Amino acid sequence: MSYFRRRVRRRRLTIFILIVALLLGTAIYFLVRSPGPQQTSGNPMMTLEPEADRTPRPLPTFEPGQAAPIIDESQWDGMDDATLKTAALSSAYNLVDQGKVSEAAALLEKAAERLPGDTDIADILPRYQKAAAQEQELEPYNGLIHHLFTHCLIAYPDLSLELGGAAKDLWIDCITPLEFERILNSLYEKNYILIDIHDIISNPSGDGENYEFATLELPKGKTPLILSFDDVVYDSKKMGRGMVDKLVLTEDGKVATYTKLADGTEETRLDNEFVPILNQFVWDHPDFSFKGVKGTFCLTGFEGILGYRTQSDTPLDREAEKAEVLKIVARLKEMNWNFASHSYGHRWMNKRDIDLIREDTQSWEDEVEPLLGENELVFVWPYGDRIKPGDPKYQVLKDAGFRLFCGVGGKAYNLPESDGTLFMDRGAMDGTSLWHYQNIYSIYFDVDAVRDPKRPNLDN
Ligand SMILES: [Zn+2]
Repeated sequence: MSYFRRRVRRRRLTIFILIVALLLGTAIYFLVRSPGPQQTSGNPMMTLEPEADRTPRPLPTFEPGQAAPIIDESQWDGMDDATLKTAALSSAYNLVDQGKVSEAAALLEKAAERLPGDTDIADILPRYQKAAAQEQELEPYNGLIHHLFTHCLIAYPDLSLELGGAAKDLWIDCITPLEFERILNSLYEKNYILIDIHDIISNPSGDGENYEFATLELPKGKTPLILSFDDVVYDSKKMGRGMVDKLVLTEDGKVATYTKLADGTEETRLDNEFVPILNQFVWDHPDFSFKGVKGTFCLTGFEGILGYRTQSDTPLDREAEKAEVLKIVARLKEMNWNFASHSYGHRWMNKRDIDLIREDTQSWEDEVEPLLGENELVFVWPYGDRIKPGDPKYQVLKDAGFRLFCGVGGKAYNLPESDGTLFMDRGAMDGTSLWHYQNIYSIYFDVDAVRDPKRPNLDN
């Protein structure tokens, strides 16, 4: 066959294919575009079923105090990728909060199979697997239990700095969100693990009198650490100086902060207080927490708790304030936060007479304990001003049920007292330690490395 004839044949074939394609295309176009009259007149068989499948399945609504929703793979069908991811992550977080890290890891493994291109899930999955594995290798721990504390964070450092001397106390007592996050990263890298303060005390005889430090069962190679947070009043006298106004719940069940700024702007945020920051840190690093434990709120009562004015002389609607804060307390408990007493009035207790200690303790039991729903065993001395066993004022607190007392001291110190109660010191994460405790705190973090560049040196 000559070259010329081959070319003619090829051209004929090409024209033939083009005509067939054109005819097919036209036929398909008219079939799709012009359905028969009976099909446009509302035949229910022709409603667009697949459209329903593409509509994201709504996530369950959240009720504080109810069990947090767990949406496992049996409910994932029909979800788009973004909804499935949100459902899988929030369910994993809820499982971690409940201390069920193995279930959380299994759920994320299935989510990673369904969403193979998702880097967020791929990034955290190994930490979930590690947390699940480390729970299988527990060993007894009898050594020192470490305890660090701070106050509410300086949520708005720039605002606070603009006030100069008027907000100086904040920079002495408090740290910034950046410093808190850096400290958490260091504690995590140094193999500390968060534990519940109530798990460290035991009463083997069950007499309610003779307490000892419990032998803990912890993942191998981890050092137990308690994080506690003092006051958390959001005192009305301190508002507008750099702290948030109160804690609130978001629609998806997160604990956030609410602040009304001087210009009237209202902000709800998850990045400027220890509660949302530590929650997210544990969700991202579940191997940093034993059984999903977060921290301890050391609460006073003279101006309510958590930014809600629940005190007896409140200028606001007390019942409404109580109703709001009860939802937050319920949610915090679900997320494995716990509570301690920091007295009602936050006074120097050694200087005060016994009648005031009695009155103060009674006020705490009347106004704060009912919001927490249980009798509290842990008492944290205001200003670290410790009263020792044998003092009649100490007996007042024992009679109120307190058994573990916490002070302030940089070096970890656990002391069983002769009367069957317990004492432990707590290292302060505050302005003083971030400038001066380089050596003592090197087992926790490098103070120079965690210090916020915005932090003023108050010595100068
Ligand atoms: Zn305090």
